[in-house]
Order: sequence, then structure tokens, then C-alpha cells
Amino acid sequence: MDGAVYTVDAARPWAQAVAVRGGRIVAVGTDDEIRALIGAATEVVELDGAMLLPGFQDAHAHPPSSGLEMLQCNLSQVYRLGAYERIIAEYAAAHPELGWIVGGGWSMDVFPGGNPSKEILDGLVPDRPIYLTSRDGHSAWVNSRALEMSGVADDTPEPADGWIVRAPDGQPAGTLHEGAVQLVERLLPKETDEDWIAGLRVAQSYLHSLGITAWQDANVGIEAGYRTLDAYLTFAASGDLSARVIGALWWDRHRGPEQIEDLVAARQRGVVGRFAATSVKIMQDGVIENFTAGVLEPYLDAEGRPTENRGRSFVDPEELKAIATRLDAEGFQVHIHAIGERAVREALDALEAALRANGPNDHRHHIAHIQVVHPDDLPRFRELGVVANGQPLWAALEGQMVHLTIPFLGPERSTWQYPFGSLARSGAILAFGSDWSVSSPDPILQIHVAVNRRAPRTYAYGGESGDVFLPDERIDLATAIAAFTVNAAYVNHLDADTGSIEVGKYADLAVVSRNLFDLPDDELFDAKVEQTYVEGERVFG
Ligand SMILES: [Zn+2]
Repeated sequence: MDGAVYTVDAARPWAQAVAVRGGRIVAVGTDDEIRALIGAATEVVELDGAMLLPGFQDAHAHPPSSGLEMLQCNLSQVYRLGAYERIIAEYAAAHPELGWIVGGGWSMDVFPGGNPSKEILDGLVPDRPIYLTSRDGHSAWVNSRALEMSGVADDTPEPADGWIVRAPDGQPAGTLHEGAVQLVERLLPKETDEDWIAGLRVAQSYLHSLGITAWQDANVGIEAGYRTLDAYLTFAASGDLSARVIGALWWDRHRGPEQIEDLVAARQRGVVGRFAATSVKIMQDGVIENFTAGVLEPYLDAEGRPTENRGRSFVDPEELKAIATRLDAEGFQVHIHAIGERAVREALDALEAALRANGPNDHRHHIAHIQVVHPDDLPRFRELGVVANGQPLWAALEGQMVHLTIPFLGPERSTWQYPFGSLARSGAILAFGSDWSVSSPDPILQIHVAVNRRAPRTYAYGGESGDVFLPDERIDLATAIAAFTVNAAYVNHLDADTGSIEVGKYADLAVVSRNLFDLPDDELFDAKVEQTYVEGERVFG
């Protein structure tokens, strides 16, 4: 009652109050209209001027591993070397029982060239191996003990799908990129099913505290070492999964189409409670910061001269077409990671091939990250019905963008980044997700950056928040909210029941401290989620 109810329903965007019965919304209207429905047993929640929204949905996140990271040596909340050192030393001291110090969340732009050295870690913990993944998960920082134990040395050949950063004498320097991380990762104590469930539990509480009621998990694993499908099924079967989760089953790029059988079998196990594994996630390229994103024209070097390097296509583009076509025919949604403009084009080509071969359907394929999109490809999202799945927190002039991206893409291509405004204007469906733990899953923070294309002044993730990044690619508040509610629900196939405040839908709701539409754009981040509901049950606040 007495609130600003923003419904995200085009037919009736605003109301004052909502009535809920049996977990569903039964009326949306004015205070007077809703007051008439109050009975003796009705619980009345006064909004007192707060804003009520549909629960936020995250279209691309990694909650079990992110939750586990919160329980491990967690560097993701700070952005300075000194703070990393303090956290690592404190964590090691607090956990004398651990054979390995494992964690992650460091930011590449804190280190020269994006490569932290083993000596820093050796100075903190000389006697136990350390393994810390980068914020984006594509690199690892290790100490000398970890290198010794894994046998990585000056004579270790470079792996085909990654590389070892080396000192001038050829010795490994402490950073491993892409596939090279596996040289050490394979020695880590394997996470148990209980670990993943513990991570999921922490993650769910945290996401609810940010108003999130549903997400798409962009990496649901069925292989030993990352068996998160089992974790979700167990968690859901025990009744503890209060969020709605669509699982994107991991495509193992080292295997071929024969794995489709396994994915079909996994999907058949995967409808329990609010969980269903109906999507498949394919990694088509890496990331720009270490030059593994697939680009059409070569990367520049630090002096601005063209190199020979056009990044990677983790899946051969012709094979990607065949895989997408098969998955589409099997009824899967295809969720493709594509960062560079060549990878985005390869992903669109593959989804176009599936459409031509199988005809139209309702699988709602999506391409996540879409960091660099060639202007010629912008209209294809709408034409092909492919959802553009963006991570708005990355669309700002932060350290990683200024120092590790723009110089290597060059001036023209740098303006093709995160083209959310262009995509929205083209009529594409724009859905947002955080890629947590790559970056914060806070939807309000992400909405702030999507609207402003600038980090909030109090939130310096890598600093350099100064100028607006590509002003034409800003989107308005309503478009940003839709990307986290109705459009994310669409890509999650949850829009019939969630994503807007409408009679008949589930009462999955978020209460925000301020009406976002009353705030100046550059103060949006100041609003805080105060309560979160799933099917009318309070899960936060
Ligand atoms: Zn991801």
C-alpha cells in the first residue's frame, strides 16, 4: 500500500498497491481498490513511498562458484594490490588447515600488463600453494609452490589453448592465461557436492538481498569437478531453492556433437522445483584483455601497430553452425558467449543456420557479453530473434577498459562496444545479466551504469570513472529495468509467470527504497533493495 508500483506492464505501468493470494498476484490497482480486498487474515505491507518492482532476473550468472568464492579467499570486493595482499595473508592465517589457498576475484588492471607475479604471493605464503582466479575467470595467479607442485617450469611447452606468462629467463612468472590455468587447476582439491550446495546457499541469499528472484546459470556442469547440476537438483529437491533458475548446461569444447546425448539426459533429470536445465552454453571466444576474443581485424600492440593476432574461435565456425542446428532441433535454447566482433558474427551465423535448417521456434537463443558488435550485425539480432544479453557494468571507462581494451582495439572499433542503445533502437530484445562473479550482481548498480555509461562516483571498480562512455549507447531507465525484468524473464522462458506485475503472475517482487524514476540519473545507485518476495513469501528484508 501507498507505494510507487512500477509494473513493467505496458498496458498499465503504474499502480499504488498489489494484492497477493496463494503466491500469485490477484489484483493491481489504487490503494482504495486494493484496500477493499483486505480481510482478517491479510498481511498488509506498507510501502511508505518505496518502489515496488517485479523481482529482478539475472540472464547470465555463475552463482554456485561465486557463492563458493565468497567463502574462499575472496578478492572481488577490492581493487588495490595492498588490499589483495592483506586479504590473502589474513585468509591464509585464518585457515592453517587448508593444504591449498584457493580463491579469486583479482582485477587484471591492478597489475602491469594484467599479469601479477608469483613473487608477491611468495612473500605472503611461501610454504603452501596458492591458486587465485582473475575476476573474469580466464586467468590464474599462482605462487612458486603451486608451480613447483604442478611441474610448470621453463621447459614446459605452451598449451594449445592458452599461455604461461614468463620472466625473461623463461621461468613462469606467476600468471597463467586461458587453457594454461589447467596446468595447476587440475591439482586443486576437487569441490564436493556439499561445497557446491554451500556456495549455492550463500549465493541465493546474497542475490535475494539484491532483489533477484530468478537467474540463468551460465555454466551448469555435469562433469566431475564442476557437477553443479547435481547441486541444483539436490538443493531444489530439498525445497531450499527459493529462486527460479534456468540452467545452461556447459558445452565441452574438447568434445564433439556426441555430447548432445549427455545433455539431453541431463535435461531430463533437470526439472525439480524451480529449477530446469533447458539451455546449453557454448564458449565461442575468450576475452579482449588477454587477446583471446575473436576479432575481425587484428589486435593492435601497445604502440598501436597491427599484430597478427585475431584471437580465438574456440569452436570452428562451421562446426558451431552444425552444433547450434542440432541443439535447436533437440529443443535446447542456445546461449553463446561471444565478446569480439568476429565471435559475435560467428554466433549470429550459427543461429541463422539453425533457423534456416529447422524453421522458427520459441527457443529464444541468446548471445551473451556482445562486447564488440560490428555495425553490420546490429540489425541481425532482431531479424533472427536472437536476444542480446548484455553485462552493463562493463560499459564504462574503468581501468580494464581504458588500459587493457581501447588501446588494443583501436579508436574505431572501440566505439562498437556494448551497443545497448543501438540494439534497443533496432528492436532487439535486450536482456541483462551480471556474469557474477566477474562483476557485481547488484541490478541497481548495473542499471545505473546502463543509464549513465559511467560508474557511480562511490564505486570505483578500477577507477577511471570520469567520462561518459559512448553517450549514444546510453539507454533510458525504463529500458534498463525491462532488461532486468520482463526481458530477462523472456530469455529465461519465465515471462508467462514472472517479469512483470500483472494479475495471474507469481508475486515475485522487489521493494526498492526510492522511486528510481524520481532520482536524477547519476544518483540511481543510491537506491537500495529493502525487501524481496518469491510467490509472496519474503526471502529478504
Ligand atoms: Zn559467464
